[in-house]
Amino acid sequence: MIAVEGVVKRFGTQTVLDGVSLTVAPGEVVTILGSSGSGKSTLIRCINGLERLDGGRITVDGLDVANPRQLAQARRLSATVFQLFNLYPHMTVLRNVTLAPEVVLKRPEPEVAAEARALLASVGLADKADAYPAQLSGGQRQRVGICRALAMNPRYLLLDEVTSALDPEMTAEVLAILGRLASQGTTMLFVTHEVEFARRISTRIVFLDQGRLIVDLPTADFFDPARGLAHPRINQFLSKMT
Ligand code: ADP
Ligand code: MG
Repeated sequence: MIAVEGVVKRFGTQTVLDGVSLTVAPGEVVTILGSSGSGKSTLIRCINGLERLDGGRITVDGLDVANPRQLAQARRLSATVFQLFNLYPHMTVLRNVTLAPEVVLKRPEPEVAAEARALLASVGLADKADAYPAQLSGGQRQRVGICRALAMNPRYLLLDEVTSALDPEMTAEVLAILGRLASQGTTMLFVTHEVEFARRISTRIVFLDQGRLIVDLPTADFFDPARGLAHPRINQFLSKMT
């Protein structure tokens, strides 16, 4: 599992994560909610080992991300899809998906290509394998991004506001795919503003408020007026969403 224990992260004098603890066990879909600037992306970047921690510890299946050798192994267990479409513009869609399995996992090209084509077909992009990212819509690019993450066959999928740059129709396309992955038992740590969607697919919801994780509850309890919704910050956040 992913275990975040008492993590502190500062930028200059600003404490962006202030003693955050969280676990994601296999099969869970854990959604992180919180206002803009509350530290959600920083937390995801810390789990990826992209930020140095100022306190606490993060392990992925027991591998400490602060240890460079263990981080290299941990990165093979989790794959991340970010908000912006960070596909390689000079490579075809297929190549974007096959690159990491070939180069990082050193798997044979024909096998990887066949799997990549199957993944693209599963998200409705069978006919785009030879296109370049610039020829795709935002929603199509994000679907390629999800395929690229899944091609690594990760144990954990981390998603940071993957639909926030998309219009409602494209958002629906991408959420449909994530909903299917969730129902297939894919383990996910999911940062989103799509509250209703999160409510449908999450096993647990955590709420970050100014770098503090103030609530971690099973989804039904999070939306219970006597539990999660009883927190003024959460109530305020959700009323702004609708
Ligand atoms: P969220 O994803 O919840 O919107 P972020 O994790 O992106 O929040 O940011 C949390 C806070 O950390 C914000 O105040 C942001 O300005 C600050 N921050 C994030 N990254 C950096 C950085 N590289 N340098 C300085 N401050 C940063
Ligand atoms: Mg963010």
